[in-house]
Formats: sequence, structure tokens, C-alpha cells
Amino acid sequence: MHELHDRALGAYLGFAIGDALGATVEFMRPREIALQYGVHRDMLGGGWLKLARGQVTDDTTMSLALGDALLRGGGSALQALDQGKDALVHEIALSYVQWLKSRPVDCGNTCRRGIQRYLNEATLAGPYNPGDAGNGALMRNLPAALVTLGQDTLLASLSLAQARLTHNHPLSDAATLGLGRLLQRLLLGADQASNTHWVSQWVQEHAAFRFTPYKGRATAYVVDTVQTVLHHFILHQDFETAMITTVNQGDDADTTGALLGMLAGARCGASRLPQRWLKRLQAPTVQAITAQTQALLALQTHRPANL
Ligand code: MN
Ligand code: MN
Repeated sequence: MHELHDRALGAYLGFAIGDALGATVEFMRPREIALQYGVHRDMLGGGWLKLARGQVTDDTTMSLALGDALLRGGGSALQALDQGKDALVHEIALSYVQWLKSRPVDCGNTCRRGIQRYLNEATLAGPYNPGDAGNGALMRNLPAALVTLGQDTLLASLSLAQARLTHNHPLSDAATLGLGRLLQRLLLGADQASNTHWVSQWVQEHAAFRFTPYKGRATAYVVDTVQTVLHHFILHQDFETAMITTVNQGDDADTTGALLGMLAGARCGASRLPQRWLKRLQAPTVQAITAQTQALLALQTHRPANL
């Protein structure tokens, strides 16, 4: 498989693996997980959402909704966004509306409120809200990073536009851009040493996200989420080890698992993802992710050269 394609697919499938694995222990404390599972390492389903084995949650299905909107808009809508036109952002908002109407297994409060606001007012962002520092905009941004690969300005405008449909907070913005940029570095093959250096620079510029010493908090507050993900991503080179230590932190384990899986999956590529987890993911999810990854990368490479 082409190396870029393998990394991109690794990121998206790794994301879904983390979502499905982490959802079993979402909102549990590390001690409760230890009592019930010892070390949680198998894709069992269950959890507070009573999931089927290998079933993903809103993290993955909302990402797919964003990816669908990007594909419907196509290269011309991206080009228009680059010129300041917002038709694509409405397309994304409509996709989130459709997603919410499909009765997803879960939906965060801030996401629901933002989608409802769009339905009522057709506005593309709410006012700044101190309560919008959850991880809901960050968690679904993967398709935006795929389709804007190597185009930093467009990555930034697309990421912030899709994020602010539901979350208007500088910490959410910073996290969404930071992890988007890190993901693109991984997709383009940057090595661990240079990524570690990049991350340490990034946390110097965004001191709220400093994760050394690691505080061990893994809630849906975007700062806790990012600290947990970066700490385990930098500490563990191996996908499986990084994933297991992350989800056993509990709390928002599906989302920290998903984002860790995105970064670690891009690092190792789809061909090196643990088969025992990959095989457990529900087949329609794997098919949707595989098709979307290919289409988003194709859109990215076939865009007019002037972008
Ligand atoms: Mn979820
Ligand atoms: Mn979650």
C-alpha cells in the first residue's frame, strides 16, 4: 500500500479502534476499571452506552459526517472556502444536523446545543462561551486534516470553521489546530524525534496544555484530553501499549482513545494496527472509513495547483 495512504488509513482506523475500545470504560475511574477488568484491553462493547462489540460512538460517526460533507462539497467548495466563502461550512452544518437526526448513540451537550442553534438561526458560530472548552470539536477534525494535507492556511480555516459550529473557545481552537498540525506531520512521515520536539515547542506556546508532569486527568475538558493523549503518544512508541495505557485512564476514554489512536495509527500505519482490535470493529464502520480515507486523499491530490 502507498505509504501516505497506509498512514492516513492507520489514523482513521486507529481512531475508531480507540473509540470502540475506550467506550467500554467511558466515565469510569481508573480504580473502578482495575477492579472490574484488571487491565482493560479487549474490545468488549458494553459500557454506559450498552454498545455492541466493536461498535463506535459519536466520535467516529461525527467524523464520518464531516468527511461526507467535505466530499459532497468537493475541491471547488474547498477552493471557495480558501477565498473566504462559507458554502462548505453550511454543508458541514447540514451534515451535523443530519447526523443528529439519525439518532446517534451519543451526543455531547455542547455539540447538541450548537447543532440546535444552527437549525434555529442558521448561524455558523455561537458567541464565545466559557463552557465551550470541551473536546467535541477537536474529536471530529480528522477528515479536515486529511483533505488539507500540506496546506496549513486551509487546514486552519477549515478546522476552525467546522469547530466553531458547536464550540467557540480559544482552548478548543488551539487544541483542534495543534492536533491537526501534528497529524499532518505524521502523515507526511516526520520521525518521532522531530515530532517530540514539535510537541514540546507547541506546549511552550500553549502553556495550558503542558503535560509534564502528567496530572492523570482524562476528562472531556479539552485541556485534560490533549494532555492525556500527548503524554501517552510521546511516552509509548508502540500502538498497543499507548492505547491500553490511555483508555485505562478512564473518564472520557472513548475520546482520548480515539485521538491517541489517530496519532499512533498515523505513526505506525494501517498495516501495523493490532489485528485483534481491527477485526472486532464493525464491518460497515471499516468500510465507511476505508472509502472515505481514499476519497479525501484523492480530493486532496486532485485539487487545482493554485491552492
Ligand atoms: Mn463518544
Ligand atoms: Mn467521549
